[in-house]
Amino acid sequence: MDCCDNTFKDKEDRKGAFFTATQSICPKCRRTIQAKVIFRDGRVVLSKRCMIHGEFEALLSSDINYWVKSLSYTKPGTKPKQWSTPVEKGCPDDCGLCEDHEQHTCSPIVEISNKCDLKCPICIVWNENNYDMSLEDFKKVTDGLLEKEGSLELMLLSGGEPTLHPDFFKLAEYATSQKNIKRVLVSSHGLRIARNREFAKKFKEAGLYLSLQFDSMEDKNYHAIRGENLLELKMKCLEHCEEFDIPTILVPTIAKGYNDHEIGKIIDFALSKDFITSVTLQPAAYTGAGGTSFPSDPLQKLTQYDIHKLIGEQSTWLEKEDFLPIPCSHPSCYTASYVLKVDDKKFVPLTHFGDLAVYMDALTNRAIMDVDNKASELIQDAIYNLWSAQSVTVDSEGLLKSLKAILKEYQQAGTLEQDQLWKLSETKVKAIFIHAFMDEFDFDVARIRKCCTHYALPDGRLMPGCAYNNIHRFKDQRLKLDGVKVPERTELEP
Ligand code: SF4
Ligand code: SF4
Ligand code: SF4
Ligand SMILES: [Zn+2]
Repeated sequence: MDCCDNTFKDKEDRKGAFFTATQSICPKCRRTIQAKVIFRDGRVVLSKRCMIHGEFEALLSSDINYWVKSLSYTKPGTKPKQWSTPVEKGCPDDCGLCEDHEQHTCSPIVEISNKCDLKCPICIVWNENNYDMSLEDFKKVTDGLLEKEGSLELMLLSGGEPTLHPDFFKLAEYATSQKNIKRVLVSSHGLRIARNREFAKKFKEAGLYLSLQFDSMEDKNYHAIRGENLLELKMKCLEHCEEFDIPTILVPTIAKGYNDHEIGKIIDFALSKDFITSVTLQPAAYTGAGGTSFPSDPLQKLTQYDIHKLIGEQSTWLEKEDFLPIPCSHPSCYTASYVLKVDDKKFVPLTHFGDLAVYMDALTNRAIMDVDNKASELIQDAIYNLWSAQSVTVDSEGLLKSLKAILKEYQQAGTLEQDQLWKLSETKVKAIFIHAFMDEFDFDVARIRKCCTHYALPDGRLMPGCAYNNIHRFKDQRLKLDGVKVPERTELEP
């Protein structure tokens, strides 16, 4: 009999198997606390205890096998050219980036304003309507990012609502004028672009990409998630984007019980429009001025696996297996599927084409795939394989023909101008990302350490996204959040 054989059942077993230990924060006082990861009833749960506020649990994944396998999708991170803070107190207090951080900045976010004309019930930030970043500070942030990174694939202007910044175009133009920043994205609710055609035109002329909050094709869901019926304005915004050919990324926040039945429909809608380059699905994180009181249950939060499963159930052509973790961040943070346009209406996931290991290597969390990177070589190889060796079942002669045509276009890519190259990539290969932000309940230090999505502050610090949202934002002197009242949490109805 070994020491764990409870043959006589005189002692009680624990309700779940311990897997590993990590650190989290207390959802009430935000202190760093010890946490453990346990397997229970087929699910992965984070369990933690604050000495003052008691015990808390949160769901990390609704499928143990998926979650364990996902942990092996990892590769060495890349260091930035410079660190910004010393290692002194330990993670997460030293953000950042301190020398212990595992990944450089792939996706910098600059919050240029905390003003907003919506009050979304699901908002994950705290808009106190008292801050617009000065042009001087914006230049400091941009120059600092370039010093640390050398060049940037993208930079995201965010808020609040960034288009309400009084000098919005001045800031944006400073960023777009940097030759070492490839694309400048603006994360917006889209209302200004919808209401003001001239603004939309100027937006295009400034060379900006739009990252559009687009949660639903049903007004009642906008009302629940965003506080207003916004569908008409969202469609008007897209009409202007189409008219001016503004490259657009749709960003739906998926809230359980509200719009989680619409994911397949939103993906198909996005892919039907050439000017929409990708979709980033964000399962709701229950933090911030809105999210904290939005009806939720930490043990029912939508995780990566849930979103994959919902897509598999709702889509006629995508399977849950078409989504894989992006190895540059933590596997629970980002997953993606790239899909190739093979004719006017038909897309095929790249996972159907060939070597998954190569595919994984090519996956990055940039919103748009370039024709000149590794991923495009992969596409070419995949098409060659398919075409010559017939390595997968091809359903029609027509499909082969269109693959041949795409290959030809890629082969001619060397003779195209940069802009034409980008355009080719953006219309032929689209990406569907799932970016799962953390809240105070499922916060896991293991995830922030490899975060590649960083808030860039004027003082030179780069804050891993979820570390800033859940901890450091409250200490950011610019935002005066010292005495902010955190609303009471609302339970999700069973
Ligand atoms: S999250 Fe990264 S930057 Fe922040 S303290 Fe931890 S290791 Fe350092
Ligand atoms: S989620 Fe965005 S649009 Fe909504 S209130 Fe927050 S900042 Fe404004
Ligand atoms: S912002 Fe949060 S969810 Fe996104 S990569 Fe960073 S830690 Fe992960
Ligand atoms: Zn506490």
